[in-house]
Amino acid sequence: MDELDLCLLSAPYMGVNVRLDRTRFGPAGFPMGCPKEKAFEYLQKLGLGAMEYQAVRRVPTKLDPLKEIGKEAKERGIILTLHAPYAINLASKEREKVFKSIERLYLSAKAAEAMGATHVTFHPGYYSEREPEEALKLAIKALDDLVRRLKDENLRIELGPETTGKPSQLGSLDEVLRMAEEVDFVSPTIDFAHIHAREGGSIRGREDYARILDKVEGRLGSLNGLVVHFTEVELTASGKGEKMHHELGSGYGPDFKPLAIEMVERGVKWLVISESPLLEEDSLKMKRIYMGIRKRRTK
Ligand SMILES: [Zn+2]
Repeated sequence: MDELDLCLLSAPYMGVNVRLDRTRFGPAGFPMGCPKEKAFEYLQKLGLGAMEYQAVRRVPTKLDPLKEIGKEAKERGIILTLHAPYAINLASKEREKVFKSIERLYLSAKAAEAMGATHVTFHPGYYSEREPEEALKLAIKALDDLVRRLKDENLRIELGPETTGKPSQLGSLDEVLRMAEEVDFVSPTIDFAHIHAREGGSIRGREDYARILDKVEGRLGSLNGLVVHFTEVELTASGKGEKMHHELGSGYGPDFKPLAIEMVERGVKWLVISESPLLEEDSLKMKRIYMGIRKRRTK
């Protein structure tokens, strides 16, 4: 299969499942080591194959510059995803805020389509003093409305509710899996640092990753095509929730290596986005760890 020959196929519960040719690594945002205009050439030189475009403050609405970015990325063999604005709350107590959140997600899907990005990552919102189940149902309803609109307009973009890092945020692993099970076009963004942080430092070794992956596979039917975020993370003083991201090897954890072993053993194809402060440097570090394990295994 051609490196960029991505094929979109519709599968139950995986929405617009992106079939990847291989596991690809890349930074969350333009790389630090070069000017923006040279980003994709630079990522290609480094041997990285993905980038998450950050639309976290606002979504660009001029589509021509986005198309240009998409064209350059494609020429360099870089697959793009897009991170939607942080200001999204699908479970707000104020209806107006929910409408605005849906609108921001819609604009994110339009922007993603313009740049040929396959997946829109977003934080679903906050419990907003509601019972978790009630907040989840509201978010599912909002996503359902949005997906209906995307289908009407033939916008086949995968929506990726992210596992979130604070206990006040909607977005436990179970919750994002429910969203994916109940709404077409939805496939979660699995942020391991966030799972680790919101569960009070729950990822200590390979069996903890295995528990998460078994659950995702059991619920969605497959692990392939997942968009994954990775960084090491410092917890808040209370021990529940994320304080800040740290580079790989900082000692804060979680450790990437046992995850890489699971990835190799299970033969998954993922987009792995580095959210470390060292962006592309840590993408490369993860790729080296992963490739090293693969090599040893095939010997
Ligand atoms: Zn995020």
